[in-house]
Amino acid sequence: MQDERPKYRAKKSLGQNFLIDQNICHKIVNAINPGPDDHIIEIGPGRGALTEFIVEASPKKFTVIEMDSNLADRLEEDWPTLNVVRADALKYPWEDLNNNGPCKIIGNLPYNIGSKLIWDIVSKVKTLEHAIFMVQHEVALRLTAQLDGKAYGALTAWVNNFAETRYLFKVPPTVFRPRPKVDSAVVGFKPLPLEQWPANPEKLSELIKLLFQKRRKQMSTILKKQWTLELEQWFEKEGVSPQARPENISPKQLLSLSKHI
Ligand code: SAM
Repeated sequence: MQDERPKYRAKKSLGQNFLIDQNICHKIVNAINPGPDDHIIEIGPGRGALTEFIVEASPKKFTVIEMDSNLADRLEEDWPTLNVVRADALKYPWEDLNNNGPCKIIGNLPYNIGSKLIWDIVSKVKTLEHAIFMVQHEVALRLTAQLDGKAYGALTAWVNNFAETRYLFKVPPTVFRPRPKVDSAVVGFKPLPLEQWPANPEKLSELIKLLFQKRRKQMSTILKKQWTLELEQWFEKEGVSPQARPENISPKQLLSLSKHI
């Protein structure tokens, strides 16, 4: 049926680049393998390009978080049973999901908040089964970067202490309206067993931020103020040179190091 509602104009400030290619939408939703036993949360459903395919899978519970109230109204009109939360995903109390059993999270994320949201979600939602996010291609490379490379940074080191990340596929600007200027990519997140999660995430986050703000410098220079015999021994035991740079230290090694500072 023809949509009689006034044409919706995308808001740049909310990172609104809507997917218009059904095959890509299907492929993204398939990556999370939605089923009738699932609790699914979609961030930024927009005009419902992904939502439609998720609804088809009849998940037990389906919540969408949308900041744009015009779009939230439309979503409620289109799918009256949908649980539409009108909120800023950056301020959403992600920890609350821990009281509700397993969940899957999906989203074609606005470019400007993708990294920050993923940083928070992977480290706060202990009941996460699986997440699928579409982000700017360059962010996807950082999330899945290998040690020693240019893309390996704070985001890689942090996220990979909570979840295994997988680069799934690249998405060109042509499948969006309006078209973004850069490529996008879809990344999968499988949480690590909780026993492997950092016991003191604040300490790890502080260390990662300190190191990667000075990523061109050597570890011994960055950590000059904190240097102790214990630290010296840590480098020796790990077989890491104090002259190494932050990008040469693995996520697990950074976690271990954070316990010695
Ligand atoms: N899922 C739709 C699609 O693929 O066509 C829309 C994706 S669009 C890239 C991002 C969506 O996130 C928009 O609907 C936008 O209004 C919404 N959004 C932007 N910032 C948000 C925030 N802080 N919290 C929740 N939703 C937000």
